[in-house]
Amino acid sequence: MCGAETGCQYAQKGFERVRVHLVNPSHVSFEVGVITPRWLYVIAAATPAEFGDPVIVDETLRQIDPATIQAGDIVGIGIHTGNALRGYEVGRAAREAGATVIYGGIHATLYPEEPHEIGGAHAVTKGDGDAVWGEVLRDVKNGTLKRQYDGGRIEGREFLPARWDLMPPDSYMWASVQTLRGCPKHCSFCSVWRTDGQKPRNRTVDAVVGEIVELRRRGFRFIALADDNFYPVPLSDLKMAARRADPTTLNNLTAIRNERFELMARLAKLPDDTVFFTQITMEASEDPEFLAAMKRAHIKGALVGVESVTAEGLKDVYKPFNAYGDELVKRLRAFKDAGIHVLGSFIFGLPSDGPSTFDATAALAQAAGVTFAQFVMLTPFPGTLDFAAWEKTMADDTRRIEGVPITRHWLIPQRSRPKVYTPHPRMTPDEIRDRTQGVWDKFYSLPNVWERSKCVKSLKSRLAFVLISKLYRQMYANTGIATDSARVNRSAQWARVIAKSARRLFVGKPMPDLQIPA
Ligand code: SF4
Repeated sequence: MCGAETGCQYAQKGFERVRVHLVNPSHVSFEVGVITPRWLYVIAAATPAEFGDPVIVDETLRQIDPATIQAGDIVGIGIHTGNALRGYEVGRAAREAGATVIYGGIHATLYPEEPHEIGGAHAVTKGDGDAVWGEVLRDVKNGTLKRQYDGGRIEGREFLPARWDLMPPDSYMWASVQTLRGCPKHCSFCSVWRTDGQKPRNRTVDAVVGEIVELRRRGFRFIALADDNFYPVPLSDLKMAARRADPTTLNNLTAIRNERFELMARLAKLPDDTVFFTQITMEASEDPEFLAAMKRAHIKGALVGVESVTAEGLKDVYKPFNAYGDELVKRLRAFKDAGIHVLGSFIFGLPSDGPSTFDATAALAQAAGVTFAQFVMLTPFPGTLDFAAWEKTMADDTRRIEGVPITRHWLIPQRSRPKVYTPHPRMTPDEIRDRTQGVWDKFYSLPNVWERSKCVKSLKSRLAFVLISKLYRQMYANTGIATDSARVNRSAQWARVIAKSARRLFVGKPMPDLQIPA
C-alpha cells in the first residue's frame, strides 16, 4: 500500500523535485550542540547520489520547520528511546504533509511496529542503516516500498564515513568518529551489547584516520571517538583465552588489541593540539601499556562507567569487573595519573542503594579526582535485562499516565513523565530524584569546580573549565532531572547562552593542507 501510494506521488510530482530530509528529533533545542549526532551524516553518506544531498535537521540545535516538507518528499527519522515520542510527532506531521516517512535507530530496531502504530511510518528499518538506506530510498522511488527492512549488523570495514561537508557551520563543539561498534560485556542497564552485538566490529585504521584528518582540515580539533567501548579486549580476557587449548579466541582477541594499538599509533602523529575523548571500561586502568598509548594518541578524556561505589550495587548491574571502595579510587586515579581525564558515570536508585549512597558517591568522585561526572537515575530502557525483569513485575499493574501504560514510559508526554520507575525497597521516587539533584549540585558547585579546574594551567583555561562544567550540568542535569517545566525551560535557556560562548573555546584553525599520517 505504501509503495503504491508513494510511487503514484512520484509520477505526479517528477522525481527530480523530491527531497530527502534526515531528522534527529529532540524536544529541547540548544542552538549549539556539544557532539555531532553522527548517524545523521552517516545516513547522509548512505543516500544515493541520484537523490541529491539530504536536508539535515538536528533538533538539538533547532526544531524542524514543517513548512519545509513537501508532498512526495522522503523523511528519515532516527530514534532512540529518549527521543522516540518527539520523533513520532515529527513523523505524523511529515506524513500529513504528504511525505514518505521512514524510521530507523535503536528504538525502531527494538519496537519496529511502534512507528507504524503511532508515528505515521510508511516503513521501518532495523539494525545498521549504512547499507540498507540506499535500498529503502530506491524502493520508495520505484513504488515498491516494504513495511520493514533489516540492515542487520554489517562488518566494520563496511561502515561509511560521514558526510561532514553537510554539517551546518559553527554549530557543534565536538565532531564524532566511530572506530568500532559492539561491546563484549553485558551490563544489565545497557542495550548496546544486544543491539550492536557483543563482537567488536572495528573499522579499518585507514578509514578512521582518513575521516579524522578530514575533520581537522575543517577546523575540528576536539573529536569524540564515539564507540560503544574503546577498550574491547581487557587483559583478563586475554589471560583467560590463553588458558584454552584452542588458540582461535586468543588469536582473534590479540588481533583486535593489536589493531587498537595500530590506530593509536597513527592518531599519535596528528597535530599536538588534537583532543580525543572516548568511552571505556574501568578495566583499562589496569593496563598501563594501553593508557600510555591513549595518552600518546591525544585521547585526553574518557567516560568510565563506574555505576556504583558499592559491591552490592555492582552486583545489581552485572558489572563485577568494576572495583569499589578504595580499590575504585585507586583505579580511577590510575587514569588521571596516566594523563587521562575521567568523566565518571554513576547510577542512583539501584536496589541496594540507601540514603547514604548519595553522599558516599559524591565523596568518592571527589576523592578519586574525577574531572567530570554524571549522576543518572536507574531507568529501565527497552532492550536491557533490567527492562525485561521490570516489565514482568509490572504485568499486573494497570496504571496509566495520560492513557499510556507505565511500561511504555517513553510514550508518556514529557510534562507528566515520571523520573523514577523501579519501585525501591527503601526510598520513594521523590527522595531518589531530590538526592540525585543534590549530588549534581554539590559536585558542580562553584568552589568544587574551581578546585577541579586546577587540572589545567592558565587562568583562561581554568575559566573555560568552569564554563564547560556549568554547561554540562545545565544540559544534562537540570533539563533531565527537574520535573518543574519552568526550571527545565530556564535551564535550557541558560544552556543556550553558555553553549554559544563555550563553542568558541573548541574551535581549531582549519588545516586544509594536513596530510594523512603514514
Ligand atoms: S554499559 Fe558499557 S561496558 Fe556495559 S554493556 Fe554497555 S557499552 Fe558495554
